[in-house]
Amino acid sequence: MSSTPEFQHTLGKAAGFSGTSLHKGEKVTLKLHPAPVDHGIKFKRKDLQDEPTIDAKIDNLKMVERATTIGEGSVRVHTVEHVLAALFAMGVDNAIVEMDANEPPIGDGSAQPYVDVIKRAGVAAQEAPRKFFDVRESMHMEAKTGALLVLLPDKTFRISCTQAGPNNRFTQFLSMEVTPAIFEREIAPARTFVYYEDVQSLMDKNLIKGGSLENAIVVRGDAVLSKEPLRFTDEFVRHKILDIIGDLALVGHRIHGHVVAVKPGHGANAELARAVAREQTRRDAISVPRTLPPGEGGFDTDEVMQILPHRYPFLMVDRIVGFEGETKCIGMKTVSINEPFFQGHFPGHPVMPGVMQVEAMAQVASILLFKLAKTSSRVGYFMSADEVKFRKPVFPGDTIFIHAELTKARGNRLAKAKCHCVVNDAVVSEGELMFTFLDK
Ligand SMILES: [Zn+2]
Repeated sequence: MSSTPEFQHTLGKAAGFSGTSLHKGEKVTLKLHPAPVDHGIKFKRKDLQDEPTIDAKIDNLKMVERATTIGEGSVRVHTVEHVLAALFAMGVDNAIVEMDANEPPIGDGSAQPYVDVIKRAGVAAQEAPRKFFDVRESMHMEAKTGALLVLLPDKTFRISCTQAGPNNRFTQFLSMEVTPAIFEREIAPARTFVYYEDVQSLMDKNLIKGGSLENAIVVRGDAVLSKEPLRFTDEFVRHKILDIIGDLALVGHRIHGHVVAVKPGHGANAELARAVAREQTRRDAISVPRTLPPGEGGFDTDEVMQILPHRYPFLMVDRIVGFEGETKCIGMKTVSINEPFFQGHFPGHPVMPGVMQVEAMAQVASILLFKLAKTSSRVGYFMSADEVKFRKPVFPGDTIFIHAELTKARGNRLAKAKCHCVVNDAVVSEGELMFTFLDK
């Protein structure tokens, strides 16, 4: 690992290309745009009203059948893995992938067209350090398909992959460190391959209208059918590595680790990405400041009460410890045995009700929203809570650190926040909250 800090990168300018979409066989134009620090990769549907964006995050994963689909609400983008692999491996951390359809142009079935666009746009350093996930302990993932993925500690990002077709035909192995130069030369040109048995029914159902021998290699028995001869004798395993890179890009952090993959597929790749993202959330949660800076950067109880209308016994935030940028903040609450809910929850066995923790999350998120809106004429109403999990009991004497991160603000009316509560370095509860604003 180099000792100089690595910086985040975006594109030097916008660039794009047009082609055919795989599933619908329609013409689609893709354009990559630069994006600010900490933006990550977002897809933008230019063909839909309000041009909604979808974060390329594992939380937004919707489907792993044949290709990787992400979505938010009812909006979807399909087959995102090749463009994500190209952006990630070529060193782009922040970008907008704008498209006028629900999937990128398939090109020749490899990541080559996206690499070409990235090189035309150029890659530019930004003034913020890159975020890395350092693998500390091995993790593994096994799927019913026979896929096995192991993630081991490593100072670089490496992939060792074994691919095997039906009856172990076309068994291939390759191991490499993933750097922009190696990716461009060894991985990006490797095309999608499919087994004839698998595509026959899809072709019959007209589900891959854009599919042809120009953008996929078709394997039928021992025969390899494609318009252009194989680009590498082991092109299949190279494409498997390409898909792993694209699917793991959904973690959002760059990985220092060694992926050992046997017969990988999108499902198993996505499960590993999910496990890494979950571990990252846990690490973020326990890196809470343990001393409370007075005043500076945060809000004391008085300031909290100037913003929140809540009062005893329903004020669930003692103070705001600090803000991180415009979208994150941490609040705290000391849970005393004098809390009124302990009288009945439960007599002789005081445990803080989970719903009160959700209320605490909602109050901290409201403060964040208030600060963002910079107005007191509107009040945020808590609309819904998703993915709520209670992981550990909270007892009298515990201090809860309440984390809130704004993940989406749609127009001026709706906002979404990802929240979790931490006690003694462990996540005790979490949830995704939705708010709407109304004038007071
Ligand atoms: Zn692929």
